[in-house]
Amino acid sequence: MTALHPRHQSIVHALVARAESGSTMELTMVPEPTRAESRRYDAVFDLAGRAAAILAEHGVGPGDRILICLPAGWPFVAAFFGAQVCGAAPASVALPTTFGAAAGFDGQLKELVGYLRPAAVVTTAAMIEATGDLADTVLIDGDAMVARAAAAQVAPHPVHLPEPDELAFIQLTSGSTGTPKGVMVSHGNLIAHLEQLTLATGWSAEDIGVSWLPLYHDMGLVAGLLLPLYTGGGGVVMPPTRFLRAPAEWLHLMSHFRGTTAAAPNFAYGYLADRVKDEHLAGVDLSSWRVVFCGAEPVNPTTIQRFTDRFTQWGLRPNVVVPCYGMAEAVLGITMTPPADPMRYDTIDRQAAVADARVVDVEADSPHALRVVDCGAPVVGTDLRIVDDQGTELGEDRIGHIQFRGPSRTVGYFDLPQATAEALDGAGWWKTGDVGYLRDGSLRITGRAKDLVIIRGANYFPSDFEQAAETVPGVRLGGVVAVGYLAEDGDSEELHLVVETELDAEQHDTLRASILSAVSARTGVPPVAIHMVPRRSIPKTTSGKVQRSLTRRRFVDGWTRP
Ligand code: ATP
Ligand code: MG
Repeated sequence: MTALHPRHQSIVHALVARAESGSTMELTMVPEPTRAESRRYDAVFDLAGRAAAILAEHGVGPGDRILICLPAGWPFVAAFFGAQVCGAAPASVALPTTFGAAAGFDGQLKELVGYLRPAAVVTTAAMIEATGDLADTVLIDGDAMVARAAAAQVAPHPVHLPEPDELAFIQLTSGSTGTPKGVMVSHGNLIAHLEQLTLATGWSAEDIGVSWLPLYHDMGLVAGLLLPLYTGGGGVVMPPTRFLRAPAEWLHLMSHFRGTTAAAPNFAYGYLADRVKDEHLAGVDLSSWRVVFCGAEPVNPTTIQRFTDRFTQWGLRPNVVVPCYGMAEAVLGITMTPPADPMRYDTIDRQAAVADARVVDVEADSPHALRVVDCGAPVVGTDLRIVDDQGTELGEDRIGHIQFRGPSRTVGYFDLPQATAEALDGAGWWKTGDVGYLRDGSLRITGRAKDLVIIRGANYFPSDFEQAAETVPGVRLGGVVAVGYLAEDGDSEELHLVVETELDAEQHDTLRASILSAVSARTGVPPVAIHMVPRRSIPKTTSGKVQRSLTRRRFVDGWTRP
């Protein structure tokens, strides 16, 4: 394993160093398009110190946890770093956008509080009112906290400089495959990973990150907030709700702040290409973009190409989008392609892949072609291997289970010893639950083991079916889920598709026929049933990932052959 030399001992040490550096770089929160609130790092440090004092007033101390339920903005930053300054570990969760859902969220929040047992929950005044009784939990109003800190009504708390094995934060997984689990990220994990990412991306004090990703998700937290702080560069953060409503606002911020770095999952690139009209782009210049990660969900080369083609005339440089792969259990990243390298993908034989777990190249126009994007080599210090079902290591071009280890490999899930034990092997390898293969030391991901559709012993990748169905007009982009469902003979799974459409019911049979032929033509597997559902009915995590097993439970369970 290559030795890493993080340039700070911990993120708290980094915060102190930034404050003392006299740097003019700033963090900027943009809660609304007309309101950008910037603070230099010395002011961020001051805010964190005073927020820590307020948390301490409420009884928060070293070794405690706090739960943050706030939108992107200074109250979030104050609570996050404030917790760390007083030696506590923050965890964060999405703020519901509508209080109509407050009843449901109330239950969810209660469950999370029961799980994490935080010393305090920092949230909005409106949430405090809507949430009502949360047993004995201390509720703190984030806005009031920042207001008191800004008015210097409390003196800064002394800084707790952490040891590597203390908790830096608890990252909740997205919940794509079940209930979100709290990943315990130590200060040692975090600082090592920030160094790994800095080396992998060449991120420096000259870089300016512009992020719309949620701060409660690992990619938003690390790329939007922690990497700028670690490297001493600038960071601009807008809320995800604004991006979803008006995606062009992100491009305007990028252009205005001369942003160089960003991150987004695959869907965002297609969303931008489809939704942003020329008239939304007056004055936009994207030429400052240097590297934009694309990860967190499968990377579709066609989507990235569409995005690049769409925005070239607005100054977007080629090869800016960098495919990468990671998970909260690795803090964030496991593999990444080198910045400025052209995106690469393999065109492989579907049949050999699904039936024999072998990778065989085919011509692009082969009827059996499956395209799999190169997600890059492991970041420095991280080791990667592919194993079969028995745990035996496989060579290159063999499809199997992805495992990793290294300094950013977290110690496990908070209070879930069984789940932790299942994920770790004796030699310290973490079982990611994902499936893929290595080629020239670079990783290709074909899917999640839990989501594979297993038909007569062949392991099909749901994204292959989903992408085929998405090409049919009338099907919503990102609105298809493919699942395997046990056939009535109980021996093998059959393919079911759940499809979101806005077309009227009379048109569903025609649409079904088109989807059936598109999916069969591409994959050779005809779905036995195509379940039409209204738009936005496929369940997704708060970070926008499809929940396939929940979708199956909701729309397919109980199905009988007509
Ligand atoms: P949960 O663990 O709660 O089910 P989650 O796995 O989606 O949710 P995250 O840690 O946010 O939680 O996401 C990590 C997962 O995202 C990976 O395990 C992998 O399945 C998927 N992923 C990340 N990057 C890629 C990529 N480049 N291609 C395909 N899948 C990816
Ligand atoms: Mg996971």
